[in-house]
Amino acid sequence: MASHKKENQIAEKPEGAGRARMQRRLMDGSRLNELHEMHAKGRLSASESLELILAGNAEHVAALKGAPMTAHQRYLKIMAAQADYMIVRCSDARVHNTDSEQDTLVGLHIYIAGNVIPGKKTASLDEIAQVASLVRPDGACLDEAHCNCGAVKERVKWVEGGMKPTGSTPLDNLLHEVVGPSPYDNAIAQLSKLRNLPGLGGRATGALHYDWEKGGVTVVNASPSHLVELLVDNFNKRHADANADGLLAERLAKQKPHAIMVGSNLLPFSIGTITHALQNEVFQTTGSEDGLDDFDEGSILYAVEHLGVRHIPFVAPGTAANAKAVTAMFDKWEADLRSMTVNGEPVISRMLDSGELAISRLRYDLSNGRLVPI
Ligand SMILES: [Zn+2]
Repeated sequence: MASHKKENQIAEKPEGAGRARMQRRLMDGSRLNELHEMHAKGRLSASESLELILAGNAEHVAALKGAPMTAHQRYLKIMAAQADYMIVRCSDARVHNTDSEQDTLVGLHIYIAGNVIPGKKTASLDEIAQVASLVRPDGACLDEAHCNCGAVKERVKWVEGGMKPTGSTPLDNLLHEVVGPSPYDNAIAQLSKLRNLPGLGGRATGALHYDWEKGGVTVVNASPSHLVELLVDNFNKRHADANADGLLAERLAKQKPHAIMVGSNLLPFSIGTITHALQNEVFQTTGSEDGLDDFDEGSILYAVEHLGVRHIPFVAPGTAANAKAVTAMFDKWEADLRSMTVNGEPVISRMLDSGELAISRLRYDLSNGRLVPI
């Protein structure tokens, strides 16, 4: 119990810090605040979207000074297969934040529409298994669903319509993997697929459900684990922090991200923490060294076609020394995006060429947490 108490004390720090941040935001008329408000009221251009991401990142860089672990120390822990947890979450922009600069727990984040774990052998399943292998043997692997999930709603409509092909293979594959009439049912189904993950070993597993209307994160089903309890506790603190004014559910009534961010699966913090994004600002998916898989592409297509997002920032960890490797990975991501088709038409490639859609390439500098446009 002594260690429980100590870990909880660590977890309480970000709550205070978050509240102070929110109060500061309400008080000052800074550019960051102005951009948050512009996003809440209307639609940001790609350059304004990038400006908001970089201004939020400046807050992250400042918060890292005095943090218990540097970004680089956290990255080394991941590379030594000592991460504390992995969480598979929906790409939805409205999900709560998971971590903060003050955390001593290191998490790996996979964002995929419908928080799907593929049931059959796919590149995405390989990627999830690979990321899970970077979690320490007594760590935790979680799947989190959320209320009002667009992927579950699309799945219900698609089933009612006779499961006809949508014209996009990635989207079809995604709709086949989402399960059940509600996010809660989907969480249960994804957990059983998670428990069959190759190489999972003795890591604790759990399915969570986030409901911003009813007040937070609940455990749907999980193996008995102190770590899972602690994480749920932390997530609920992040939710409470974001809802300090009691108006969070109102802000999340309709999803409206200004960017679909593609983050590397090896980032030492969540994208939410790296960019200090507020809930409902960034839709997300996760890329790997092998490129973007069908599920990433399905998520991106959903953001562009259904949510009207016009900015795709790429983010990967790096140092000045591995700049070439990061560039090569981003080239692969862009090539994968450009090869996507809907009814045989290269829709994303066309939008990129016409300037209607923009990609930003950002290296996450492990020495100081700064996002560096490359
Ligand atoms: Zn969702």
